[in-house]
Amino acid sequence: MARIPYVVKEECISCGVCVDTVPTVFRFDDDTKAEVFDPAGDTEAAIQEAMDLCPVSCIHWKE
Ligand code: SF4
Repeated sequence: MARIPYVVKEECISCGVCVDTVPTVFRFDDDTKAEVFDPAGDTEAAIQEAMDLCPVSCIHWKE
């Protein structure tokens, strides 16, 4: 089964990197915090790249 990413919104600084990198998976919510709206919107490798680029490392895989 594909892994599901999620954002710890309390830690998100709204930099936009994940939204810009993988716009088919991440978007901003009404508080300009990133959220996952389609966990299957791109490859795990693309999502991993966004995770690695997040400056506060607040994107994780659900175990
Ligand atoms: Fe928030 Fe990280 Fe995405 Fe930046 S890259 S918007 S800090 S979740």
